[in-house]
Amino acid sequence: MRTADPLHLRLLRLLRDRGAVSRAELADRLQMPRPRLLAELERLVSLGYVAEAGLAASRGGRRSTLVELSPDLRFAAVDLGASSIDVEVVNGRLEPVAAYAESTDIRSGPKVILQRVNDLLHKAKSDGAYERLHAVSFRDGVPVSPPIMPGWDRFPVRELLTREHGCPAVADNDVNIMAIGERHGGVAHSVDDFLFVKIGTGIGCGIYLAGEVYRGTDGCAGDIGHIQVDSHGPVCSCGNVGCLEALFSGAALAKDATVAARTGASPALVERLAAAGAVTALDVAEGAIEGDVTCIRLIRDGGRRVGGVLAGLVSFANPSMIVIGGGLAQLGHILLAEIRSVVYRRSLPLATGNLPVVLSELGSRAGVTGAAVLATDVAFGEAS
Ligand SMILES: [Zn+2]
Repeated sequence: MRTADPLHLRLLRLLRDRGAVSRAELADRLQMPRPRLLAELERLVSLGYVAEAGLAASRGGRRSTLVELSPDLRFAAVDLGASSIDVEVVNGRLEPVAAYAESTDIRSGPKVILQRVNDLLHKAKSDGAYERLHAVSFRDGVPVSPPIMPGWDRFPVRELLTREHGCPAVADNDVNIMAIGERHGGVAHSVDDFLFVKIGTGIGCGIYLAGEVYRGTDGCAGDIGHIQVDSHGPVCSCGNVGCLEALFSGAALAKDATVAARTGASPALVERLAAAGAVTALDVAEGAIEGDVTCIRLIRDGGRRVGGVLAGLVSFANPSMIVIGGGLAQLGHILLAEIRSVVYRRSLPLATGNLPVVLSELGSRAGVTGAAVLATDVAFGEAS
């Protein structure tokens, strides 16, 4: 834990992550003189963030009182995908109190989508999920310059949510929020330096350095999908040539699969194209499981390209873990094995001596989990 964080933030995070704790244990864990801790607790109680929670088991002598986050704290996590909205209301321990999901089309634009988000949050309120919200966080899958999502560029999402719900709001990009989720409740639990690589509609990377998300000067650090991997490759949606995600992403894989089906190169894909009229990344995954050689090759080719970029990132940042998530993580162990083999072969041995490359544990829950963590962090940071 970084000691640079203010005391109240460390204290509230500790109560979030551990539940009810005695004053004595808090003083130990925060390495804090007791009078200063008690004054801070008193302040947080008066602000409505902390509540008493009965007596701790005796450690000999006078029994210490337990404190916990106020049971009235409520946070909203909004997870917006290309075709779905997930809204979850959680308490201070990040336990879901209410959850809503509906399908949507992100191309209907920010006004319509935010209206739906607000409608769902007001429904949560009338369902009794909260009296008032302490923070809202919003995961947007919106790229910096969004060709598929007209109208989202610089739309004031945070300001509008704050105005509507009277609490702090925060918006962050999907890979950062998924990385936060994975670090809180997934495979990267408590890991301070790791990369979360999302391979889906596009490819992006959440970067954790020294226990914090690294966002870069303009918030677009980790935009690895547009690193060039083939100077003779196809034109990318960004206008450049041979970007990683132009060669391997949900759309790129579907395109390659369609070619393999039309030319008859893959019997498994020929069959699926005939049955459904189109083939997707999921068909490639299924074909590979059946042992279809072309499907396996398509996944390996993609894994090799991702691995090549990651090998460079490993040399640059020396992470202690790489987590692979997003829709194409369903390509499973063939993808993972190829990424691993390239990363281990191409990075320096010192950097990969102990470098697990693993699949996301939270899967599709990474976004909403991370959004809830981010909402509490924003509210806790402002609890002063
Ligand atoms: Zn590009």
